[in-house]
Amino acid sequence: MRTNCPTCSSKIQFPKATKLVKCPSCEQVFETKNLGIEKRAWKIAITGLVLCFHYFILSLFSPVLDATDINFFVLLILLNMIGTPIALYGLLLVIVEKLNRENKFIIFESFGIIMVFYNAYLIFTMGTIS
Ligand SMILES: [Zn+2]
Repeated sequence: MRTNCPTCSSKIQFPKATKLVKCPSCEQVFETKNLGIEKRAWKIAITGLVLCFHYFILSLFSPVLDATDINFFVLLILLNMIGTPIALYGLLLVIVEKLNRENKFIIFESFGIIMVFYNAYLIFTMGTIS
């Protein structure tokens, strides 16, 4: 089997039955059963992030979508109600997975969580004003 080291991304080849792999470049030891968890977690996180942000970003460039339209806000809030928990769940999974491997580089994920919270806060307060 082949994989990329989850820490340094260098290519590693190992027999299929192997349970523990040690990366020859960075000496990181990892369990093969955990491979791919972070990728799946990122997929969940990105799905949520797209739900949270695409409609808003779209509206900045589209003359068809009117940001003052009440339907726009309803849709925006609905998408965020679905997207926010999905994005948070995915990002937390990534962080937990990284911390399990003692990878402390979680700055992007932490920033992502703050952005999701801030976005949700902005949208839900906008919704209550109008
Ligand atoms: Zn490595």
